[in-house]
Amino acid sequence: MFIHKSVLLHEVKVQKPDPVFAEKLLEQFGGATGELTASLTYLTQSFHTDSPGIRDMLQDIGTEELGHLEIVAMLIEQHTKRAASNLQDKAYQSTLFAIRGPGPHLIDSKGLSWDGRYLNEGGNVVRDLRADIAAEAGALNTYEQLIAMAEDDGTRQALVHLATREVSHTHMFMEALKSLNALDQPLFGDLKPDQTVNLYFNLSSGPGADQRGPWNSEPAFQYVANPLQHEMQEHGGGQPTQSNEMRMNPAEHGGLGQARKPGEQH
Ligand code: MN
Ligand code: MN
Repeated sequence: MFIHKSVLLHEVKVQKPDPVFAEKLLEQFGGATGELTASLTYLTQSFHTDSPGIRDMLQDIGTEELGHLEIVAMLIEQHTKRAASNLQDKAYQSTLFAIRGPGPHLIDSKGLSWDGRYLNEGGNVVRDLRADIAAEAGALNTYEQLIAMAEDDGTRQALVHLATREVSHTHMFMEALKSLNALDQPLFGDLKPDQTVNLYFNLSSGPGADQRGPWNSEPAFQYVANPLQHEMQEHGGGQPTQSNEMRMNPAEHGGLGQARKPGEQH
């Protein structure tokens, strides 16, 4: 059950309304990294897991994100409705609000309608929590840009709170993954990986492009400095495999191209 209380999670006091800035704020109302996307993602994901603890966390955070949506809505409302009429006229001539009217709309800062394809959910709790960490990074990044552009103190305070909570959520998702032993374990599910699982292929080479780090070093990884040579060794000392030969020139090797004549059954 959802109960709405008409109390904001954080106060919104816009002192200098700016409809042009409100347009940018739409990114967090009806945009890909916005609060509606976050809320619906987590609430949906909560039904994917049998873990009562993780389900409860996803429902708590998903509901908090709806509260964030409300804060962004109030910001947009105050930046549009309270603007002086001369500012409104000027801004509205060049913004989305000219057509839609003041207040929030389910569109992003470029006027694109909110899209269900922004949701990232898939049915495996580890997969979902990993996607959530990336989603929070997207939201935090958008808020950082908005804070950098915000000229109004009241707006900035509300945005700093919203950004802070995305940091908190990231941490919660990381702890949840840790509780499942899945924070620093890349493999989940039933896959039996093949022999390449610990190989790092140095496939982009050239000046400055052979960097080394823990992502391509022992003990986690065996560094394959020359992947082409490695491939030759793995598949018969440099001789192309038969299937490669056939693919390169089917006719010459009596492959598929020659064996079949037009109209012939196979
Ligand atoms: Mn949020
Ligand atoms: Mn969040």
